[in-house]
Amino acid sequence: MGCRKVGDRSELVRLVRTSTASGDMEVAVDLRRRLPGRGAWLHPDPACWSKALKRRAIGRALPGVTAVAAAESFAANELALVAKPEART
Ligand SMILES: [Zn+2]
Repeated sequence: MGCRKVGDRSELVRLVRTSTASGDMEVAVDLRRRLPGRGAWLHPDPACWSKALKRRAIGRALPGVTAVAAAESFAANELALVAKPEART
């Protein structure tokens, strides 16, 4: 989604479309890949996330999604941990 690289799904981070209590569509980061709903995939690479966020690619991949705060927060706070799992030990 962010770039054109093809990746193995086992290393990609899943984004899923959910609805809020108020009925808006928002994106959720589904690290366990278990949430129901339409999904999109991004590399665990900060460059991919910033491209996807800047180009509004999330809203295109998951039509109707207007709230991407969860993805922005994930990119800012947790992505580094996912990208370098060895740093978590
Ligand atoms: Zn990518």
